[in-house]
Amino acid sequence: MNVWNDLLELAAELSDLSGIAELMDWDQQVVMPRGGAAARAAQAATLARIRHDKLTSKRLGVRLAAAERIRKPAGRLNAALLRHLRREYDRAVRMPAALSAELASAAALTQSAWETARSRNDFSAVAPGLSRLVELSRTAAACQSPAAPYDALLDQYEEGATAADLDRMFAPLRAGGSALIAEIMAGQGEAPSYLDWSYAPELQWRFCREVVSVMGYDWRHGRLDAAEHPFTTGMGGGDVRITTHIYRNRVLSGVFSCIHECGHALYDQGIPPRFRRTPVGDGASLGFHESQSRLWENQVGRSPEFWQYFLPRLRRVFPGRLDRVRLEEFMAGVNRVESSLIRTEADEVSYNQHILLRFDLERELIAGRLQVSDLPGAWRAKSLEYLGTAPENDRDGVLQDVHWYCGLFGYFPTYTIGNMIAAGLWRTLEKDVPDLKNAIAAGDFRPLRTELRRRIHRFGALYTPAELRTRLFGTPELDGRLLLDYLRCKYSAAR
Ligand code: ZN
Repeated sequence: MNVWNDLLELAAELSDLSGIAELMDWDQQVVMPRGGAAARAAQAATLARIRHDKLTSKRLGVRLAAAERIRKPAGRLNAALLRHLRREYDRAVRMPAALSAELASAAALTQSAWETARSRNDFSAVAPGLSRLVELSRTAAACQSPAAPYDALLDQYEEGATAADLDRMFAPLRAGGSALIAEIMAGQGEAPSYLDWSYAPELQWRFCREVVSVMGYDWRHGRLDAAEHPFTTGMGGGDVRITTHIYRNRVLSGVFSCIHECGHALYDQGIPPRFRRTPVGDGASLGFHESQSRLWENQVGRSPEFWQYFLPRLRRVFPGRLDRVRLEEFMAGVNRVESSLIRTEADEVSYNQHILLRFDLERELIAGRLQVSDLPGAWRAKSLEYLGTAPENDRDGVLQDVHWYCGLFGYFPTYTIGNMIAAGLWRTLEKDVPDLKNAIAAGDFRPLRTELRRRIHRFGALYTPAELRTRLFGTPELDGRLLLDYLRCKYSAAR
């Protein structure tokens, strides 16, 4: 049998198993009754074990070595297939099967415990589960890189990234972020009153559906549901589901989550179907994925052009409600900067401060320099440092995000990587696509979608994140100053 065909067949099976795991996770977060948690944890562990066995099979090891011995050029798709499988195989071989299953099971259980703990504002209820997850993650990371376990965790989500690289790229944000927030806040007036009026949830849902439809979300290959924590699941390309959370008194929250998740979904839906069931049928990295969702949410969704089109439609969905709110006043609400406590609600300026806080704390956790029992206090201290305010309860602090409670350490920095890519990308798009803003104001998102597909989506994961950044920007290096400049410029123009 041709070695490439054999590798493709193995990759397809691995991709199917990942898709099943994604589906189970979607089910757990969207429709599963709470009582299903224990059985689901066992199922997740079994599935992880099966995938691990397949991934570490002798058959795959032999085929990889055979493919690497072939000297003639493999073609771009085969070369990428080989790179991804080798990387995954090596990671899996270094990881004991029992540890992988234990991590999957602990993650599913702790995630369920987190839901209860968060609703009851009771960190102590989930602290033992979190401690166990930190310990398991640290052990798993040390299997990959005993000298730099945190880098091994980062590398899972952002191939090639290291904490040292990120420290360098994030330095301008660390130095200038807090001052910029203070400066903008000092210059802005009262919050517009429309922000916390009551808006019927069923009408908010209707508006959200309209927005993602106009953005170009393909409903034949997707659906929109409610979840506690909005997310997107791309189950093997042909089925890309989004979720949001609607709050009666926060009309912007649900729609901006929707725009964000739809940005992720458009990336997945824009990857060529021929890449499906291969490791190339995914985004280049989480940072790249986040660059798409954040670009849609911030550069596009928080622009006056976007709301020039959508505000009249929002008025139509809520007859009589927003008739007297002018576009300018509406935008003051959309772009309001606040040293708020909740990351998912944060404006685009303070958002990165939330990430720096988590980046600092999770490094300390993984290094063993910070204990889970001290985490709520450490959170409050960092919150004061980066945001100038500290939560009064853990629900608004350490319990707000699901990530750590399902074992995602090294994941948060990809949000700011995404923001940095989005800022760079937007700068080039503004230059290269002259009518971009006019099209947005007319509700025509095709020019933007076409450019994003041409520059990013159509490549799936053919390139490493560094290679794709080089294709886009001429260098793999991201500059935090570019993001800070974009924000400065946007907010000084608004005044
Ligand atoms: Zn996202």
